[in-house]
Amino acid sequence: MFSYYAWYSVGSHFYWSKAFPLYGRDYQSVLEAIDKMEKNLPGFFYAGNHKGGLSVGKSIASGCKAADLVISYLDSSSDNMKPN
Ligand SMILES: Cc1cc2nc3c(=O)[nH]c(=O)nc-3n(C[C@H](O)[C@H](O)[C@H](O)COP(=O)(O)OP(=O)(O)OC[C@H]3O[C@@H](n4cnc5c(N)ncnc54)[C@H](O)[C@@H]3O)c2cc1C
Repeated sequence: MFSYYAWYSVGSHFYWSKAFPLYGRDYQSVLEAIDKMEKNLPGFFYAGNHKGGLSVGKSIASGCKAADLVISYLDSSSDNMKPN
């Protein structure tokens, strides 16, 4: 695979000159780790192309979804702080 996609590395970064890298074979474990972080860290929401698909359009959709979750979270947090 690496012979087809020309790449080189600088430090810890890989630069792909003819293609962009796709999800790896253990991608499911990445999704599970993201889910775990979101569950264990209230108020933390993950967005971007690691979750929900590659491409600018999908990343924007992922960001909008996360923004909705943040708004709901903040609304429910402020509701809990209101005096009864
Ligand atoms: C070569 C190439 C061609 C592509 N062509 C297309 C195309 O034609 N059409 C299309 O729809 N999609 C294309 N894509 C895919 C698309 O660019 C990505 O899916 C999309 O940009 C991902 O958006 P993102 O916001 O999740 O991540 P990114 O756009 O990668 O943004 C992440 C940001 O976080 C910053 N960052 C990273 N680490 C840290 C840190 N520790 N602290 C602070 N900031 C940090 C980075 O500098 C970057 O600005 C292409 C991708 C590549 C690589």
